[in-house]
Amino acid sequence: PRPVRRSGGSRGRRRTPAKRSALLTVAVPSACVMGVAGIAAASVGGLGASAGETKDDTTNLAAADPASVKPVAANSKIDTQLAALSADARDFGDRASRTQERLDLKARQEAEKKKRDDEAKRREAMRPKFVLPVNREGLSAYYGQAGVNWMSVHTGIDFPVSYGTEVMAATDGTVRTQYNSAYGNMAIVTAADGTETWYCHLSSTRIRSGSVKAGDVIAYSGNSGNSTGPHLHFEVRPGGGSAIDPLPWLRSHGLDPT
Ligand SMILES: [Zn+2]
Repeated sequence: PRPVRRSGGSRGRRRTPAKRSALLTVAVPSACVMGVAGIAAASVGGLGASAGETKDDTTNLAAADPASVKPVAANSKIDTQLAALSADARDFGDRASRTQERLDLKARQEAEKKKRDDEAKRREAMRPKFVLPVNREGLSAYYGQAGVNWMSVHTGIDFPVSYGTEVMAATDGTVRTQYNSAYGNMAIVTAADGTETWYCHLSSTRIRSGSVKAGDVIAYSGNSGNSTGPHLHFEVRPGGGSAIDPLPWLRSHGLDPT
């Protein structure tokens, strides 16, 4: 145990107290002189400092002559004020704690949302934006071929798939369906850049309107219209205009059905 040392001690080696105890160092030994003010100062100081830091000073306070600490009317008033102050501090602490909990919850929710958004972005980035219209490679007819079924030349490519094969949107876009005596049941997907992809001779359609993503099954292949057997006739029409050869277009998007 350290010896009880009063301020202005005779050692000459003045302790340079940390700022936390400056108030107590002055106030406590002077309690008998300062009376109310000293006690109040000591009490207030005690509120702010942690238990470990005030230990020595508390000992000092206990060592002060109890007789000199006289309860006076002013004291109880200050006690009341201090109690209110203390209650305010607790209340503030409670509110701060609840605020912190709300902030923590908000931060967690935001972090979780960001995680979900990032995952969705990752999936969106990974998702193929161009897809072959059927899960089958090999063609039975090419673009530009002359043939009995075509008035001039072939305006698309034919996939030799059996009746009822799933037909997928080649691009993201908006789908619509119609019937044409030559093309039979057909679905048309219009991409954001205006490119139309046509899916013809269908047996039935699955998605007749609205937004689709590349790879969505929009219809089933068939033999409707001017067709001599089940297959999928596929066309590409930039800007909804004339049909181009779908093969270079597909290859430019990393796809090769041959
Ligand atoms: Zn065809």
